[in-house]
Amino acid sequence: MPARTGREYLGGLQAQEREVWLRGERVKDVTAHPGLANGARAIASLYDMQHDPALRDEMTYVSPTSGDCVGLSFLIPRTRQELERRRTMMLRWARSTCGMVGRSPDFMNVTFAAWAAAAEYFAQNRPEFGENVRRYYEHIREHDLTLTHSLINLQRSRTVSGMFNLEEGTALRVMRETDAGIVVRGARVLATLGPLADEIAVYSPRLPQLTERHSPFAINFAIPCGTPGLKFLCRESFDLGRSRFDHPLGSRFEEMDSIVFFDDVLVPWERVFLLGDVDLVNRTATTTHSSAHTAHQGAAKNIAKCEFVLGVALLMTETLGNAHLPHSEERLAELMLYTELMKACMRAAEADAQPDAWGVMCPAPLPAEITRNLFMTAYPRMVEILQLLGSSSLMIIPSETDFQSPLAPEIEQYLATDAAAARDRVKLFRLAWEIAGSAFGSRQVIYERFFASDPLARARALNAIYPKGELMERVREFLGPSA
Ligand SMILES: Cc1cc2nc3c(=O)[nH]c(=O)nc-3n(C[C@H](O)[C@H](O)[C@H](O)COP(=O)(O)OP(=O)(O)OC[C@H]3O[C@@H](n4cnc5c(N)ncnc54)[C@H](O)[C@@H]3O)c2cc1C
Repeated sequence: MPARTGREYLGGLQAQEREVWLRGERVKDVTAHPGLANGARAIASLYDMQHDPALRDEMTYVSPTSGDCVGLSFLIPRTRQELERRRTMMLRWARSTCGMVGRSPDFMNVTFAAWAAAAEYFAQNRPEFGENVRRYYEHIREHDLTLTHSLINLQRSRTVSGMFNLEEGTALRVMRETDAGIVVRGARVLATLGPLADEIAVYSPRLPQLTERHSPFAINFAIPCGTPGLKFLCRESFDLGRSRFDHPLGSRFEEMDSIVFFDDVLVPWERVFLLGDVDLVNRTATTTHSSAHTAHQGAAKNIAKCEFVLGVALLMTETLGNAHLPHSEERLAELMLYTELMKACMRAAEADAQPDAWGVMCPAPLPAEITRNLFMTAYPRMVEILQLLGSSSLMIIPSETDFQSPLAPEIEQYLATDAAAARDRVKLFRLAWEIAGSAFGSRQVIYERFFASDPLARARALNAIYPKGELMERVREFLGPSA
């Protein structure tokens, strides 16, 4: 089956009955629910880009097994050119959502591409697991499936530092093995895109490490979202059912976060990729380099988001007529700095890419990972800059219906600026408010702070890969021999 269209993606969601709950009600059809449907449409539009005659070559490649054109984020890059080609495709997707859809399907596609190439890693102690991961990757590539993932266990208590205060009855664990597969029970967070995905992948984050006593919790598998016993509990939707004018982002890009309950869910053996092997589970992301590949995907999203926020800031200052004032230039320059730093890291990750043990062209881990650490603090600051630039204009945002009310003449007259008609000014600042102050925008800030793990864990990750020796040696040489 070739790369899917948006319609096929939506049809797939409808065809697979799943248990999704939102505001106390079971959602019958996620593609029609007012809180979810526009988010589903946003993902559908990504799939449609694969069939746009002007983009098809950029978005797809020829499958090595079926000969069909399949989504390019499934490509296992063997050369720098292929890595760049994959980035061009991912950046095209990210720009089309203004960088506001963090979990577009390419995130998981690059993960499974890295894992399939490194199938021997999964096969080390159980040869069948290597075959499982290879076959699963082909399955999702040939069917162009959308995956969500959930790595973190819910915790009853945070008395122990880190994420592995794992308790029976809460954390997801293997209950028993049967001839058909493993039975798992527990709760995981946070499956972004969960209700809008075809399948869910469950594995562990690489940063906090499991210990031997955690083996019942050490798992890596993927199953359809409609598997019996699987339940998704959504947060409230930030698509408030308003117009594109009123909520330009929430009305388009609600990707939804969900808690996932596993109520004695049977995972068939062919969908198990690791089981009980703490060491292999802990090292999966670093040894297979899936973490560098997902950082590369995330950097494309970050670039698109930086560019979009900078574009909004430039239009804000142009509209208000203060673009030339020193305080505006200082703030705009800071946004330019983040945008260009992000691009420079992306370029460095590609320029210094090296083939790994499995012949996969791997983005250089250091500049790739730095894009994650940087964005945890840069994005909240970018949002703060929009607030500082916008000031009261972020509150001068009457709704679309106000323009049809008896006050319309006053609005048209008094809200115009030298550079913009009232309607254009309000439209722009409603967008700025959605980024800088709305529920949708606040969730984006929380997302960027935490989606790639908590800040302490990320700092430790950077420490772990930074080449420190040479720098210390240089200082030692400067200090001279010890007395
Ligand atoms: C919007 C959003 C979407 C997400 N989407 C996904 C997804 O799709 N899939 C997925 O698997 N996960 C997802 N996540 C979850 C994400 O992986 C976790 O939020 C992240 O790993 C951090 O874990 P935590 O929230 O439990 O934070 P915690 O571990 O509770 O940390 C909270 C804060 O406490 C600090 N802290 C922790 N320990 C200490 C200590 N010992 N001393 C001092 N300070 C400490 C941390 O630095 C942090 O600032 C998402 C998260 C968010 C917010």
